[in-house]
This record gives sequence, C-alpha cells and structure tokens, in this order.
Amino acid sequence: MSAQESVRQVVIIGSGPAGFTAAIYAARATLEPLVLGGVYWGGQLVLTSDVENYPGYPDGVLGPDMMAELRTQAERFGAEVRTIDVTRVDFRERPFVLETDEGTVRANSVIIATGASAKRMEAAGEEAMFGRGVSTCATCDGWFYRDKPIAVVGGGDSALEEALFLTRFASHITVIHRRDALRASKVLQQRAFANPKIDFRWNTVVEKVLGDERVEGLQLRDTVTGAESELPLAGVFVAVGHQPNTALFAGQIDLDAAGYIARQDGETTATNIPGVFAAGDVRDHRYRQAITAAGDGCKAAMDAERWLEAQGVAEPNLMGEIYDMPVVSS
Ligand SMILES: Cc1cc2nc3c(=O)[nH]c(=O)nc-3n(C[C@H](O)[C@H](O)[C@H](O)COP(=O)(O)OP(=O)(O)OC[C@H]3O[C@@H](n4cnc5c(N)ncnc54)[C@H](O)[C@@H]3O)c2cc1C
Repeated sequence: MSAQESVRQVVIIGSGPAGFTAAIYAARATLEPLVLGGVYWGGQLVLTSDVENYPGYPDGVLGPDMMAELRTQAERFGAEVRTIDVTRVDFRERPFVLETDEGTVRANSVIIATGASAKRMEAAGEEAMFGRGVSTCATCDGWFYRDKPIAVVGGGDSALEEALFLTRFASHITVIHRRDALRASKVLQQRAFANPKIDFRWNTVVEKVLGDERVEGLQLRDTVTGAESELPLAGVFVAVGHQPNTALFAGQIDLDAAGYIARQDGETTATNIPGVFAAGDVRDHRYRQAITAAGDGCKAAMDAERWLEAQGVAEPNLMGEIYDMPVVSS
C-alpha cells in the first residue's frame, strides 16, 4: 500500500457479514470501496460450522463457505479486499486517516464493522472444542441439542435468557455460576427457578472441557470447598458477556457504557463523527446475528453514499435513484 494512495470514497473496516454487505452495496453504488478486513478475515462465522438460519440457504451453509461467498460477491462488483488490520485511526483529520502495517489509507467516509468477540470461560480445552459442543450463541446452535443435556455458564440476563430459550430443545440444563447469587433481573430469575428443566450449580467454575472429538462433559470446581466433580453433557453455552472490538476507536468516537459504538438515532448507522458509520455487532448489543449484521451493513453503505452525495464528494448514482432516503444529517 503506497503512502501516496489516492483518497478513497469509502473504507470499510472489518470483513464479517456487516463489512462484506456494506462492500456489496457500496461497490454497486460505484463507490469502489476498500475493505480492510483484518488478518483474520471473515468474522465470527469462520469460527462455526453449520449456519442454518441465514435466509437463502435451505440446506444450511458452512460459516467459512458463506463468508467466502460474500467476499466473492463483493469483489465481483469491484470492492477491493485487503486482509490486514487497521492499527490506528484519526477521525479528526479530513479525509480520515487509517493506518495499517502496510501503509496509510485516507478516506472521505468510513464504515466501522469490526464486530464483537464473545468472552471465554478460560477453561482448559475450551478453544479446542469451540464449535464442537462449546458455543456462545443459543439462537444459533440450540437446535443441535434436541433432547440432550447441556450447561449454560454465567449469571447475568444473557445467561438466563439463553437457558430459558434452550429449554425448547435440551432435555436438561445446568446453569453454572461462580457466585452464590445471580446478577440477572428478578423476573428472569423467577422464570428460571420455576422451570423444571433448569437447575443451578452455585459457587462453581469450569476447570476443563472434557471430550475428544466433541464435548462429553465438564470438570467443575466448587470455589468454596475446592471439591472437583464431573458433569456429563453434550454441550456448553458460554454466556459471560461480549467484548466489542472498539479499542481502536477509544477517544475518537462516542462509545456507550459497555464499549459499543454509541447510536445517534434509532434509524441510521451514523456515529457522532459525520462521515463515520457503524454496522453490525460492533454497535448491536441485542440481536448479534449474521442477518442483522448484514442488514446493518446495507444501511451503513446507503448512509455513507447519501452523506458523500450531500457533501458533494460523490455523484448521485443508482442507489439514489432507487431509494428515496432522507440525507443523514451531519
Ligand atoms: C461460534 C459462533 C456461531 C455463530 N452462529 C451463527 C449462526 O448460526 N447464525 C447467525 O446468524 N449468527 C451466528 N453467529 C453470530 C454472527 O457470527 C455474528 O452476529 C456476525 O458475524 C456479526 O457480524 P459483524 O460483521 O458485525 O462482525 P464479525 O463477524 O465479528 O466480523 C468483524 C470483522 O472485523 C475484523 N476486525 C476487527 N478489528 C479489526 C481491525 N482493527 N482491522 C481490520 N479488521 C478488523 C475481524 O477480523 C472480523 O473479520 C455466530 C457467532 C459465533 C461466534
């Protein structure tokens, strides 16, 4: 990447469903987007096998295959994809400055689609069994555990929401919590305590995920007595929180209390910096699905295109003819 590289109309940081969908829309709007997709390109779906809830794949699709197809689709319309990390941004300068290990890129508009990462239990064997019985998404993977015993690790709202949702599939659910009381809301606690499929292991941590090819059980430790025990099961859902990938933007852009990119309004993908937009899990606490991230990517590309047009840096194009959208305020 040369230091003299021309200013790009749109640079997209991240190559998950949000980033690639933004690239497809921006490319089809003739904005010639550059995707700085990260060394580990493809996002979270690369970590999983079967994706069965993304529309258009009646037989399901492997996560890595789906991301490769999204990349091919974006490149077909002229998006340039580079699998490098952005190491620093400067949103105070115009055009915006983005630094990578291969040089500096300048951009009139930026779409942040850097996603989020599910926090881990930090147990032995957890990484090796990820996608083979260890999951961080009940909506995505609950279906695979029909009539099987499973565990949910965590004590907050997400843990109980996941556990209650999983009662539709699993034969039994053990909620494993390291303290003797839950942080979850009272109403969720009441529902979970009343559900005959759910029981609780208090003051307990997971030491090790057991199994060879797939999860077969957990080795647990009681944090009060130190006693160790084994719990046979088919899967474990880790619900100890998510970490948005926003460290790069700290001090440059408004983040909310949990570190996600703060929304400016209920409608658009605008951030507090005019010309910088955010899409997908990096701004979404609630849904965290491939389809919602992709929808956000579409919106961000349309918001960026409209914003560029309003600044006089992009010609009106096909997107503008098709969609009668209000201009994103700056
Ligand atoms: C194991 C697992 C299974 C799942 N299964 C499903 C499922 O079946 N169905 C479903 O709908 N959802 C599923 N999800 C959720 C889904 O993967 C996410 O909601 C979705 O990937 C979010 O998309 P995104 O584009 O916002 O971010 P991500 O997919 O997280 O992508 C973010 C991208 O940004 C890149 N990046 C981060 N920092 C930088 C940087 N500094 N420079 C450049 N690039 C950077 C990363 O490398 C990554 O490529 C699953 C998630 C996991 C973890």
